[in-house]
Parts: sequence; structure tokens; C-alpha cells
Amino acid sequence: MEYKIVRLKKDKEISITRKHPWIFSGAIKSNTEDFEDGEKIIVENHHGDFVALGHFQHGTIAIRVLTYESASIDTSFYQAKIQNSWNLRLQLNLLSPTNSIFRLIHGEGDSLPGLIVDFYNGVCVLQTHSIGMYRDQTLIVEALKNVLGKDLIAIYSKGAETLPERIKAQNEFLFGDCPTPHKAIENSIQYNIDWITGQKTGFFIDQRENRALLGQFSKNKKVLNTFCYSGGFSLSALKAGASVVHSLDSSKRAIELTEENLSLNEYEGEHKSIVANAVEYIKDLPENYDIIILDPPAFAKHREKRHNAMQAYKRLNAAAIKQIQPGGILFTFSCSQVVDKTLFTNTVIAAAIEVGRNVRILHQLHQPSDHPINAFHPEGEYLKGLVLQID
Ligand code: SAH
Repeated sequence: MEYKIVRLKKDKEISITRKHPWIFSGAIKSNTEDFEDGEKIIVENHHGDFVALGHFQHGTIAIRVLTYESASIDTSFYQAKIQNSWNLRLQLNLLSPTNSIFRLIHGEGDSLPGLIVDFYNGVCVLQTHSIGMYRDQTLIVEALKNVLGKDLIAIYSKGAETLPERIKAQNEFLFGDCPTPHKAIENSIQYNIDWITGQKTGFFIDQRENRALLGQFSKNKKVLNTFCYSGGFSLSALKAGASVVHSLDSSKRAIELTEENLSLNEYEGEHKSIVANAVEYIKDLPENYDIIILDPPAFAKHREKRHNAMQAYKRLNAAAIKQIQPGGILFTFSCSQVVDKTLFTNTVIAAAIEVGRNVRILHQLHQPSDHPINAFHPEGEYLKGLVLQID
């Protein structure tokens, strides 16, 4: 296969030398005006030596690197990468009678920038974040079929929300068919997954380990789960013996999902749903809680929004720390990529100082190993959290 070639500017080669998988438009010397979105492009250094091969896209991130070695990007290229990722998930014991929900491909973390594949009990839901990956879906589908074999029922593509509008991406089945909601299991808890109407690919897989940890604190406790979406933390608490769980989300649909998921599982505690804006609701809680979970959506999607976001995280955490029962446990998260671990921790500590309560950090939380971080792409680290005990 013949691919077009670009050359890098001499003083902009350091990032690719360090194997960072993005090449910014400002690092490219060649004229790329005539390139098509999604084309595969060979990248050369200023001497004309091959350095990488990747997907081109008009915009700030001009090239997302697929390989640092000369290769043909075909089914077997994708198959080798996907096999690697599949093997890792099997090694992590994520496919078992008690677990059939995991992220199979985590973009840069699995050396496939722009591609997300979530696995729900035989169904792969693809979310492409680059036009190149979208255009390569046929190759990816073949590769997934070859790697997963009988473990694969269907493949659904959900790129309409993550790709630029100009390419008019369709959400559709690319292989097989499977009605939603589709039952799948996480840590022995049953969930209905609906990738068609659900947020993201249908479920927040990245909280699996943190939900399990919540279980360890929950026996006989009264729990408030804010930003609950489909109720993962609520169910983990109830299954572990929480006496009362209140699930809160501003989306009525999310509360419906939570209630459907509750009805799939057996537990003894009491449950109540609350449709409300958590930011307002938390200011003056009508009841006392032993455990509060704060898992808001990303308050800052861009660096420019970070200052306001930090104020919002601080207010939210201050309200929870202020009102939680003595000895209470707070699970607090941020999934904003632009807010790093230190900044988040400092903000939560500032909130504790503001309300004058003594706080201990019991756990520092992060994304699980099916959301791996490419060591050369630190931007891949996005989820961070703390488990605090408030005296
Ligand atoms: N904790 C969830 C994932 C949270 S995703 C889980 O384990 O699956 C963030 C959720 O916050 C979404 O369900 C969204 O509907 C909800 N949300 C966004 N803004 C909100 C607000 N101001 N108040 C309450 N919920 C909100």
C-alpha cells in the first residue's frame, strides 16, 4: 500500500522520538491541505527517515500514530493489536461467570489511538474518536471476529456523538444483531446494558474496582449515591449489605436505568431514587448519611475551564464533608483529564479545611487496568478519586 508522506520540522521531532502518539499540525513541515480526513500517512523526520505511520485528520492533532514501524494497515495489523488487548483482559480475569463487562480497547492505552471498544457479554460497542478509525471499521470488524470467535455475538458502532458532524457517522450494527437492553454482569451484579439510548457506550465500566471497594465499607450503612447513572455504586452497596441506599441523578432516564438494574438483582436493604440536580441538592441534605459518593461528569473538558471547575469540585466536596455523619466515608471522583491527581487532592483537602473537619485519606483511586495508560501518553490518565474518612 502506498501512503502519502509528511516531513516533520527539525525542532519538533522530540515528541515522536519519545513515542508520543499524537503529532500536532504545527510540527509538520509539509503542506497537508489536500489530505483527506482519515488518510493513512507516513511520517518522516527532517532527514527523510521513516518515524511513524498514522491516521491524518485536519485539526490540531493532525496525526494519530498507529505504528512506529513500517507496516500495511490491514486486517492482520488490527488483529495483532486486538489479540494483544484481548489476551490482557483474559489475563486480568475479566471474562468469567461473574464478570462479562470490560473495556477491550482503550485508545492510546492499547496503541490504537482514536478507538474505544467496550465488551458487554458478547457485544462489542465501538466508539471511534478519529475519522481514520471510523473509516477503518471494516478492518476492525474482521479483526474482532477473528480474535473473539465464538465469544462474539454482535458489533455496534456508536460514532455519531464522538466524531465531527461533517462526516455524518451512523450508529449501527456492523456485525450480527442483539436487542437492547442486553444483560451482562460485573462482579456478580447483573446489569441491563443499552448502548443505543445509553450515555457513552451504555455503562461506566471504569468504576468497576471502585464499586467493589465501596462494598467493603457498606454493610449496615446508609448511603447516598449522587450522579448515579445506571446505579453501579448503589447496587454494589446494597449487595454488600447496606441498610439504605438513595440514588440521585438529574436524568430521569438514568434513574429508570438504576431501577431496572435493581430489579435484576436480589438484596435486602431499602432503596429510594431521587431525580435532582446534585450540586443543589447536596447544599442542604434532608437526611444524614454514613457514606456519600460523588461521581460527577467532567466539570472541565478544557484547560480554560479548569479554574471554574475546581471551584465547583470544591463546593461539592465541601458540602458533602460538612454534612456526612461523624466517622463517615466519602468516595469522591473527578474524571476531568485536565485535572490531575495532585490538583484534585489539594482541592478536596481545601474543601475539608474550609468546613473545618478532620479528614483521613484511606484510598487513592484510579482507572482500572482495562483502561491502561500508555506510558508515552500521560494524557491517558483521567479518572482519579479518594476514599476519605471524616472524623
Ligand atoms: N457513577 C456513575 C457514572 C456517573 S456519570 C456510574 O457508576 O455508573 C455522570 C452522571 O451524572 C450521569 O448519569 C448524568 O446524568 C449525571 N449528572 C450530570 N449532571 C448532574 C447534576 N448536576 N446533578 C445530578 N446528576 C447529574
